[in-house]
Amino acid sequence: MEGALTARDRVGVQDLVLLEDYQSETAFLNNIKKRFKEKLIYTYIGSVLVSVNPYQQLGFYTPYHMEKYQGVNFYEMPPHVYAIADNTYRSMRNESSNQCILISGESGSGKTEASKYILQYLSVCSASNEQVEYIKSRLLQSNPVLEVKSSKARANRAVYRSIARCCLCCFLAFGNAKTHRNDNSSRFGKYMDIEFDYRGAPVGGHILNYLLERSRVVHQASGERNFHIFYQLLEGADDVLLSRLMLTKSPDKYAYTNQGKCAKVSSICDRRDFVAVQKALKVLDFSPKNIDELFCIVASVLHLGNVTFTQNEDGHAVVERQHEIQKIANLLGCQYEQLLQALTHRTIEANKEKMQSPLTVEQALYARDALSKAIYGRMFDWLVSNLNRSLTNKHESSDIQRIHYNVWDYIKFGTVWPCLTPSLLCLTATLLSNSFEQFCINFCNEKLQQLFIELTLKQEQEEYRAEGIEWEPVEYFNNKIICDLVEERHQGIIDILDEECLRPGDASDNTFLTKMEETVGKHPHFITHALGNSKLRKTIGYEEFRLVHYAGEVTYSVKGFLDKNNDLLYRDLKVAMSESKHDIIKQAFPVTELARLKRPETVGSQFRTSLNRLMDILMSKEPSYVRCIKPNDAKMSDRFDETLVRHQVKYLGLMENLRVRRAGFAYRRTHEIFLNRYKSLCPSTWPHYDGSPRKGVDVLCKYLDYKEGEYRLGKTKVFIRFPRTLFATEDAFQI
Ligand code: ATP
Ligand code: MG
Repeated sequence: MEGALTARDRVGVQDLVLLEDYQSETAFLNNIKKRFKEKLIYTYIGSVLVSVNPYQQLGFYTPYHMEKYQGVNFYEMPPHVYAIADNTYRSMRNESSNQCILISGESGSGKTEASKYILQYLSVCSASNEQVEYIKSRLLQSNPVLEVKSSKARANRAVYRSIARCCLCCFLAFGNAKTHRNDNSSRFGKYMDIEFDYRGAPVGGHILNYLLERSRVVHQASGERNFHIFYQLLEGADDVLLSRLMLTKSPDKYAYTNQGKCAKVSSICDRRDFVAVQKALKVLDFSPKNIDELFCIVASVLHLGNVTFTQNEDGHAVVERQHEIQKIANLLGCQYEQLLQALTHRTIEANKEKMQSPLTVEQALYARDALSKAIYGRMFDWLVSNLNRSLTNKHESSDIQRIHYNVWDYIKFGTVWPCLTPSLLCLTATLLSNSFEQFCINFCNEKLQQLFIELTLKQEQEEYRAEGIEWEPVEYFNNKIICDLVEERHQGIIDILDEECLRPGDASDNTFLTKMEETVGKHPHFITHALGNSKLRKTIGYEEFRLVHYAGEVTYSVKGFLDKNNDLLYRDLKVAMSESKHDIIKQAFPVTELARLKRPETVGSQFRTSLNRLMDILMSKEPSYVRCIKPNDAKMSDRFDETLVRHQVKYLGLMENLRVRRAGFAYRRTHEIFLNRYKSLCPSTWPHYDGSPRKGVDVLCKYLDYKEGEYRLGKTKVFIRFPRTLFATEDAFQI
C-alpha cells in the first residue's frame, strides 16, 4: 500500500529554494501548481514572493491576518504579501534603511491588487493603537476614500493621507482601462513613494507615473475600451453636467469610445465609479473650478474624436461640421478661429517669413489625434502632480527623519514577450506586431532584470560577508549586453532612432531600419530579414527587426517608430492651447515651452532618462520583490495553464533567481530559530541546554550527522546547502 501523502507532497514546499531539483523548470511549475490547487497562492524564492492570481476572493486579507503577520519572523508564517510588507516596514523602522518593493508580472497577474494589499497593511501596522481600529474599519471597506472627510480622519492628517494613498480611485479612473486581459488594467507604470517619520508613522507621499499609454485615447482594439473616465462621465454625469459639456449619454456616438464595441463591461459600474471619482476629487482638495475643467477636457477629447475632414478642390483638409470645433473651443477655453485654423494648417517659416501651409486630410487627422493624446496625457500628468501636492506633508517638522518606502507597480502591456498563445495574438489584432511601446517596456524589463540579478547577488554576497562565510562566485547571464544595444550613447537603438527623427529629408521608418543594420548589424542580439540566414528570413518581415531579449526573442515592426518617438504636436496647436483661459490647459501647455528653440526630448530618450533615474533610486534602497503570475487567460479560478505559466516563469527570470539563491546554501535561519525548532532531537540540547545558540546548533548538527560541506555556521545564522539535509531533520522531528 502506498504511504500517506506528506504535507510536502500535497502542497509542495513553501520556499522554492528547498526544491531538490532546483534546476528543473518542471519541478518549479509542479510546485506552484500544487499550491495553487490548494489555494496557496504565495510561495517564496528566498525573500522573493511569487504570487499566482487566484481569480477569486480568498479569506486571508482580513484584519485578523494583518495582525497575525505583524512583527513576526519572515519565515515563521506561511508566505504572504503581508509578510513582505511587514518585513520591509520593520527593516525601515528598525534599521532606518530605505526600502522598495517591486511588483512585476504580466497584465492581469495581480500587481495592482498586491500593491493595494501592501498599502492597506502599511496603513494598519504603521498607525498608533487608537488609529488602528478606525483605519481597519475604514480601509477594509470597498471604497474608503468616500469616508475620509469624517472628523476623526481630519484630526489626523497622516491617517488621511495614507487612506487617500490607498484609494487612488480618482486617478485609476484616468489611468486604467478595460483590455482583453484585464477589465481594470493599469495603462501606466506607477511608482509610489511613502515617507515615514522616525516613529514609523506615514507623513507624506509621492507618485510618479511612467509612460501612460496615450495611444489608447484615440484607438482601442476590438473588445477593449478607452480609459474608464470617458465611460464614467457619459454614464454617470447628470443631465445638467451633460448639457454643460454638450454630450449625449451614449458612448456609441463617439469615435473614441465606440471602436472597441464594448462600452458596457459586466464587472464595472461606471455610474457608481463616477460618483466615487467626483467625491474623491473633492476630498483631495481639487477646487470646483478645476474639477469642472477636468471634465471639460475629457468631454473635449470626446468631441475631438468626432471631428472629420473633407478634401477641397485643392486637395486640402476642411473641417466638416464646424460647430463641433466651437464646442471644443468652449470646453478648452481657447479661441475658435485659432483652433479651427490650427487643425487644418501649420505655420512654416521660409526665408524668415511665416506662412500658413494647408494640411492634407491625412495630416489633419494626424494633428487631431495628436492633439487629443497631448491634451489627455498632459491632463493626466497635471492630475498626478496635483494629487502629489495633496499627499505632501504640509506640517513639516524638524524632528522628522525621512525614511522612504516605495512600491512600484509597473506595466506590461500588449504583446510583450512572444509568450502568448496564438489565439491571444489574434485577439489583440492591433498588437499583432510589437511596436515602439513594447520596445520601451521590454527595455524597461531588461533594466529591471539587470537590477534584480545584481541586487540579489549583492544581497547574497553581503549576507555571506556579514556571517563570515566564504563567497563562491555564481555564474549567471548578464543582460547588460542587451541593455547596451538599446541605450548606449551614439550607437544604441534609441540614439539611432533619435538621429533619424532629427534628420531632415527622407528619414523614414525604413531608413531607421537600414541605419540599425549598419550600426548594430553585427550585434549578437540583433537580427533583421537582410541579416538573417535563409531559415530566419522566413520568419522576419522586411520592415521588422528582432531582439534576442534575456527571456526570448521578440520581433518588432519598425512601422510608426519615428512618429511615436517624435510624438509631434504641431506648434500651432500648442500655441492655441497655451493661450487658453482655463487653468489646467494653460499649465499643461506652458508658453515657455514655445519659446524653447531646442527640440523637445524624444519619447525614447525621455524614457531612457527616467528609467535610469529610477534605477539609481532603486539601487540606493533595499529591494523586495513580488513576482506576479497569471494562471490562465480566461480569468478563471480553477485553471492552471502550464504553458502560459512556464513562459512567465521564464521571462520573470525566476529560474535564474532560484539558481543564484541556491548557488550557495538553500536554507538559512538564525541559530535561535533553528535550535528552538530542533533541539528536542539531541540529548545534549534537550531537555536542558544553557550554552550559546551557536554552540547549541553546532552540537545539534554534529549529533544529526551533518557532513562537512553540507552546512556552515555563520555568526548569527546556520546555512544548509541541500534541502535533503533539512528535510531529513524535519522528518525526524515530525516522527
Ligand atoms: P495590469 O498590468 O493590466 O494593470 P495587474 O497585474 O495590475 O494588471 P490586477 O488588476 O491587480 O492586475 O488583477 C487583475 C484581477 O485579478 C483583479 O481585478 C482581481 O479580480 C484579480 N486578482 C488579482 N489578485 C488577486 C488576489 N490576490 N485575490 C483575488 N483576486 C485577485
Ligand atoms: Mg494594474
